[in-house]
Formats: sequence, structure tokens, C-alpha cells
Amino acid sequence: MGTANSALIERDLRVLWHPCTQMKDHEWLPLVPIRRGEGVWLYDLDGNRYLDAISSWWVNLFGHAHPYINQRIRDQLEQLEHVILAGFSHEPVVELSERLVELTPEPLTRCFYTDNGSSAVEVALKMSYHYWRNHGQPQKQRFITLSGSYHGETLGTLGVGDVALYKETYKPLLMEALTVPSPDCHAREPGVSWEAHSREMFRHMEAALEAHAHETAAVIVEPLGQCATGMRMYHPVYLQLLREACDRHGVHLIADEIAVGFGRTGTLFACEQADICADFLCLSKGLTAGYLPLAVVLTTDNVFDAFYDDYASLRAFMHSHSYTGNPLACTAALATLDLFRDSDVIGRNRILAAHMAEAVAPLAEHPNIGEIRQTGMILAMEMQQTDGRPFPFEERRGIRVYQHALTREALLRPLGNVVYFMPPYVITEKQIDHLATVAAEGIERATRR
Ligand code: PMP
Repeated sequence: MGTANSALIERDLRVLWHPCTQMKDHEWLPLVPIRRGEGVWLYDLDGNRYLDAISSWWVNLFGHAHPYINQRIRDQLEQLEHVILAGFSHEPVVELSERLVELTPEPLTRCFYTDNGSSAVEVALKMSYHYWRNHGQPQKQRFITLSGSYHGETLGTLGVGDVALYKETYKPLLMEALTVPSPDCHAREPGVSWEAHSREMFRHMEAALEAHAHETAAVIVEPLGQCATGMRMYHPVYLQLLREACDRHGVHLIADEIAVGFGRTGTLFACEQADICADFLCLSKGLTAGYLPLAVVLTTDNVFDAFYDDYASLRAFMHSHSYTGNPLACTAALATLDLFRDSDVIGRNRILAAHMAEAVAPLAEHPNIGEIRQTGMILAMEMQQTDGRPFPFEERRGIRVYQHALTREALLRPLGNVVYFMPPYVITEKQIDHLATVAAEGIERATRR
């Protein structure tokens, strides 16, 4: 007691209400106040350090306080911190849009900005519905989603999500999406390949589209990885089948790459692995390498044209957020894209991803590890009871891993029973080895008794 950490914790707990937290936990689970970051490391006020293995909620790509991104933001700060984006424009937002259009598949030609992932998903949902309305099909009001999906915390996005922990309480307030069983390969039978399982599971989607396409605006998915529900993963073939079926049934496809975009799955965008293009692509998180809040929805000329008309037709998309296209955030995004352009990030990640797999491989033998799964730079380990059943959620085994990791200079933040790594791309092989050791120790402790 009496340390700089404890003094700030005390002040914090008097005035803050933390996100995604039962505040009573902090009676026994200390907050970790951070003074500064550098590379993969976070330093607290007492000088302890923590390896940010989860990229601070999956946003950080190139480490904390990256000199180049810092400098770009500083330079921009001297020019323009913010300006309204309705009626006005600025260089960073124009250049960023040009580069995003260039980096994404050809049909995606238009960028609409928001300031967080949830609001980007809301934009995609609204635009899709509004597109059909502008085309004389106002009955297309529904959305199809996958079980276990997560698209944000606002009422609109909870409506198309399916993680009970976040959704259940608010159900009476939410629109009702059609929820189709996910191609999640954790659920496959022994001996069945990811591809065979994901392909097989598509029949549920086909049936839903068959029955509901006439009243459905869009299908929304997290391509290749359903992160928030516990890093569940599936094969790209599902996206190919989905793209073909959406076209055949006249339904939009919304790709929410907010968590999986910008190299997380092994390609710049996850959809590349299926060689498909969505009608709406939602990006955020890694877009600014974890620096500033920014999100974007990319869409097609076809969608844009459905809104382009004389003002009095009232077909315009009248949606706005105050900080839309903030110049500092756009500059952070431009610096991020420079880093992808100027070095072979994806190639280096391939080596790091292989190393992550090797480093945790011995854990596959652990009696309480049901599965180790990986897609690119996302690696997850599923803790379970020795008889294969999940640990009851009340036992909060993941928190024990979290607590242990903090004593060993690592920030691991399991999702329920799922311990995962989603590190910044500047992590070294030695640091990965350390994480694997800490995870193994933590899992051993957490699964005892
Ligand atoms: N979609 C996905 C797939 C996400 O993982 C998240 C955030 N975890 C969101 C949407 C929401 O983004 P935000 O937290 O910025 O609102």
C-alpha cells in the first residue's frame, strides 16, 4: 500500500465505472493503472511491466508509442485537429479513403466513416435496409446472423449479435434477427475437417435464405473468426458459399472485419482467403493500429447510387457522428497503412504465427485443454473439464489465468474458458515463448481442483 499504483486505483474507484466490468470485482481484483507503453510493453505506475498479449482489446498492431505513428499524429496536430465532415473535407480523410478503396476488392469504392466499430455496423445495417427501401422493397427489413456472433454493444448491434452475456438482459429492447447455426469448427465431430464442417453447416444458411430472402436486407458475419464469443473459427469455404447464395437470393452481405481485419487472420482482410467481396465491409480497431477511435464502412457504387438523387426525393443517408473522419485518427490510419506498405508485415506474421503454434503445442496434451485452434495471428486454447464438459462460468477459471499472468509480466485476458493470444505484430519469438510458458502455468493453476 501507499504505492503510486494504489493511490491512483483509489482515486479511480471513487469516480469511474469501467467497461465490461462487475465493479464489485475490484474489491479483490486490483485494477492495473498504466503510465506508459512502449512496443509490446505496458508499464504501471510502480514500474512493473506487462506484455500486451491481447493488443489492448485487439486494436494495437505495431506496439505502443510507435515512433513513426507518433510523429505523424504530432505533425497533423499542428495542422488541423478536427473539422466537421459534412460540407467540409480534409486531406487525411481523402487520402485514407483512396488508399482503402485501393487495398480492398474492386467493387468497394465508397467510404463512410464513424468513430467506433458498433456504429460502423449500425451504418451498414441502416444502409442495407435503406438501399432496399430506396429500390421499392421496404419489406426487406430483417437481418440474418450466425449463432455466437458479436457485432457491438449498441441496441442495433446487440440485435444482430448472439452472445448471451451481453445480449440477454436487453432482449426486450432489441430487433429480432434470424439466427442461423454457426460454421464454428469447435463444434465439429471428431475426424471431420474444418472445410467439411463449415460446408456442411451452410445448409442452415441456405434454408434461412430460401425461406426469408424476400424479407431480408442482409446477412452479417464476422469472416473466419467469431472473436468475442471465444475465438471460434471456420473455413473460408463458408464465405464463398455465402457470397454465392446472397447473390442468388438478392440479399446483401455485410462483412464485419472489425476484429479480424488488418492482418489478424494471416491476410490483410479475412475475406481475401475466400476471394470474395462483401457489399459492406466494416473496419475499425487495427485501422488506426490502436491509436485513435475510427471506423469505416466501405461499400459499392451500386449501393451509393441508390441514395444519389435530388434532395427532395429524401433518399439521402442522413446519418452522422460528431467525430466522423477525425483528421488525427485518419492520420494514424494513414501511418498504419504506410507500415503495412513499407515492410512485409503479413510475411513476418506468417513466421510469428507458426512460432505461436509451436510454442503452445505441448499444451495440446494437457488434460484440461480441449482444443488449440489458430487462424493466422489469433491463437486460442479452450480450457475444459477432464470429461470434456465446459467449466461452469461461475468458477471463472479464466480470471485465474489473468491473475497469474500479471505476476509474470503478461496481460492475458481469457474470454470465459478460452485463453488466447492476439499480440501486436512487433512481438518477438522469445516473447511468444514467454507467453506460452505463462499461459501453460496459468492454465495449470486455473484448472486445478
Ligand atoms: N464487431 C466486432 C467483430 C468486434 O469484435 C467489435 C469489438 N470487439 C465490434 C464490432 C464493436 O466495436 P467497438 O467496440 O469499437 O464498438
